[in-house]
Amino acid sequence: MLKLANISFGYTSKEVIKNIGFNANKGDYIAIIGESGSGKSTLLEIIYGLLHIEIGTVHWNEEKLLGPNFRLIPGEDFMKYLPQDFDLMPYTTVEENIGKYISSQDKNKGKRIKELLKVVDMTEFSQTKVKNLSGGQKQRVAIAKVMAKEPEVLLLDEPFSHIDNFRKNKLRRDLFKYLKSKNILCIVATHDTTDALSFADKILVIRNGKLIANKAPEQLYTNPKSAYIASFFDEINKIPVREIDSNDCSKKSVLLYPNQIKLTETAGINATVITSYFKGSHYLIEAILDKTTVFFEHHIKLETNQQIFLKFAISEAK
Ligand code: ADP
Ligand code: MG
Repeated sequence: MLKLANISFGYTSKEVIKNIGFNANKGDYIAIIGESGSGKSTLLEIIYGLLHIEIGTVHWNEEKLLGPNFRLIPGEDFMKYLPQDFDLMPYTTVEENIGKYISSQDKNKGKRIKELLKVVDMTEFSQTKVKNLSGGQKQRVAIAKVMAKEPEVLLLDEPFSHIDNFRKNKLRRDLFKYLKSKNILCIVATHDTTDALSFADKILVIRNGKLIANKAPEQLYTNPKSAYIASFFDEINKIPVREIDSNDCSKKSVLLYPNQIKLTETAGINATVITSYFKGSHYLIEAILDKTTVFFEHHIKLETNQQIFLKFAISEAK
């Protein structure tokens, strides 16, 4: 088990990681989400042992990891870390790049490389020089390379940022299936929650260096504690309750996803349509209540300035 406890860290006197702690089990997939600058990459570098921490501890299977001040070469052997700005050897082939860390004495080397090429769907490029690949293809090679020695823990920083959606879905499915089958703990930093929702066992949300949520995807999605958290999943509406409930004159507001607001024929709250955005399976409708703009889903397009009634699946926001 990986155990982080009470970790605080700053590059300067300003703390950018503030008292973070969590546990993760072998074979888990943990997604760390947070806006840019919130501390995701810093946290991965602390776990891997590239940054020295004065406050807090990292344990792996009861053993305390000592960090860069106590190692000749920073970074733990049982872990692999793929930084955001990964680097490959441009003038050698895909196969050579992936095999770089596998000993040539290893009689399974060839088989292992083939297996990894398959996971990242790069088999047909095995003999291509890396400099001739696209950004997304390079990223897939980099992912295969960090898995080459079958680490126990894999830390990936924005691993799909250059990969187009068409490839991304298949890659995510294949990669996470593979990691589970090998019981590898994988921690992924991402600002794209579609990376996290379908696959993660836990989602950790970081804001300004603080861990503000640590939950299973379903729990986090259905009960987001703040607009910051909800906004990773969908367009989020924060609506003053008094605008949708005439009996309430408090200052409270509710958080609602677009699919929690529905058009109704009668007896709803008045709204005026502003724009309809085509989303493929539905339209996202932008409308205005008395003062507040709302977004909701509807199966057909609505005309600008059309008067409509809406009903709201109210749940309390904090
Ligand atoms: P994220 O990965 O979530 O975008 P980072 O961990 O890269 O966030 O950054 C967290 C904070 O630390 C930011 O305010 C960033 O400016 C700062 N920071 C990151 N790297 C350094 C560095 N090498 N020196 C000083 N400050 C840094
Ligand atoms: Mg980062």
